[in-house]
Amino acid sequence: MSPNEPETPSIDLMKEIVSLAKQRGFVFQSSEIYGGLKSAYDYGPLGAELKRNIMNEWWRSMVYEREDVVGMDASIIMHSKVWEASGHLAGFSDPLVDCRNCKERFRADKAPRAQPGSTVTSVEGGRRGGKTLTGTVDPRGYVCPHCGSSDLSAERNFNLMFRTNIGPVDVVQDVVDAIHGKDLSKEEMRAAIDAKVRETAVYLRPETAQAMFVQFLNVQQSMSMKIPFGIAQMGKSFRNEITVEHFIFRSCEFEQMEMEFFVEPGTQKKWLDYWKEERMGWYRRFVNSPEKLRLRRHEDNERAHYADDCYDVEYEYPWGWGELEGIASRTDYDLSKHAKHSGSHINILDPNRPDPATGKPPYRFTPYVIEPAAGATRATLMFLLDAFRIEDKPRPNAKGEVETRRVLKLHPRLAPYKAAILPLVKKDGMPELGRKIVRQFLDAGINVRFDEQHSIGKRYARHDEIGTPYCITVDGDSVKDGVVTIRDRDTTEQVKVKIDEAFAVVKERVFGHR
Ligand code: ATP
Repeated sequence: MSPNEPETPSIDLMKEIVSLAKQRGFVFQSSEIYGGLKSAYDYGPLGAELKRNIMNEWWRSMVYEREDVVGMDASIIMHSKVWEASGHLAGFSDPLVDCRNCKERFRADKAPRAQPGSTVTSVEGGRRGGKTLTGTVDPRGYVCPHCGSSDLSAERNFNLMFRTNIGPVDVVQDVVDAIHGKDLSKEEMRAAIDAKVRETAVYLRPETAQAMFVQFLNVQQSMSMKIPFGIAQMGKSFRNEITVEHFIFRSCEFEQMEMEFFVEPGTQKKWLDYWKEERMGWYRRFVNSPEKLRLRRHEDNERAHYADDCYDVEYEYPWGWGELEGIASRTDYDLSKHAKHSGSHINILDPNRPDPATGKPPYRFTPYVIEPAAGATRATLMFLLDAFRIEDKPRPNAKGEVETRRVLKLHPRLAPYKAAILPLVKKDGMPELGRKIVRQFLDAGINVRFDEQHSIGKRYARHDEIGTPYCITVDGDSVKDGVVTIRDRDTTEQVKVKIDEAFAVVKERVFGHR
């Protein structure tokens, strides 16, 4: 936001965004007519456009504008050995704790911190009007995020991967056959069932990254890529998140945009610095408030054991700073693990380079990896929050009152529609001319919307709310002299220009050239 832009008054921003998202067709609760499915969301016509535009911009900067990164699109279901090798089957779990007071379950690593040994108070049952309870914080040093109680269960690990079974045989029948008629203890029965289910178990991927490691050699060889180079992928990932929170910030099904950049060992620090700058620059290009973005280095105890450095790109959400993207220097951990588990040789041979150990060529090495891992759904929320404003209209109404307007100041490349074409009335050739202008835009690959419902003021308001950068109004004169009114979403200024000039203005704002 520029310093002279009016401030959005203090409002419940998340509430505004959730309500606008539904009313204007960005994001709906999944299966809403059946009562909704917790933590699953559907992207409506405008949300699908916004998310796609974000992902296209990511792909453009990662793949189309570079010679050293290629893309791929892997299957969501992969061999379960992939997840064994990556450590996800064993380690992809959250420490979960049950609150004995309010009965809510939460993630220990995200719980509010409190001094061990200090006294805390909570309300009995976590319900309003209940008795006040006091408790002592145990050495784990946290309390229930819902009611503040220190009366907590032990931590239990919970695998976040969604499991399903693949194959022509019904796994339930398999299980019944395995245990039917056998005199088994509860533990034996559990082990027998687990073993049967595991035989055909497959998992929905919890991240897009692993396919890029598993297909590293195929991509490198088929495309003759030379180190350093990257593989980029975007698509759905699934995590059976226990704490689903803040609308689409954390959901069970979400989209990621990840890139694995393979480098020579020893050069990882330089490349980590490079990708930190590159990714911050990408976000800054599209936001109104760059001061709400920051890079935070992981503390030593927070970093995965195999990473030699890691940063989060964070955004200041209405509830505080939180992750938007992780940028990790992952060493050769992933490729080495897959090499070991699969028995393949996953490395690079440079016949002309001397091996640093012997001083003589060839040099065979397992590349190190820098991974910028972003969330497309989380970025969609961030861009909505960043763009939303409630501001005073520049001109008072007929009664002299100052009214407010809601506006989404989305970057034109992210906006679902780049312009709205509005015939002033539905007669006298105006709709026909409007449709001709729409066709001119659509033929040039620019997504615009023809809109003739309601008064012109209401239509301006609607397009402000969905972030359409320009409204082009066709009036009676336009039919005669080809002059239309173009209105700028951000300044609300209106100017009369020839149709071709209006076309050129929009094109320039979207593509950066006429
Ligand atoms: P968090 O700490 O918020 O759980 P994470 O560190 O587990 O995130 P990564 O595994 O690094 O996340 O995934 C990369 C990116 O994918 C995150 O920065 C985020 O943008 C996105 N992401 C991860 N989990 C979710 C989720 N459940 N819902 C939406 N986006 C997610």
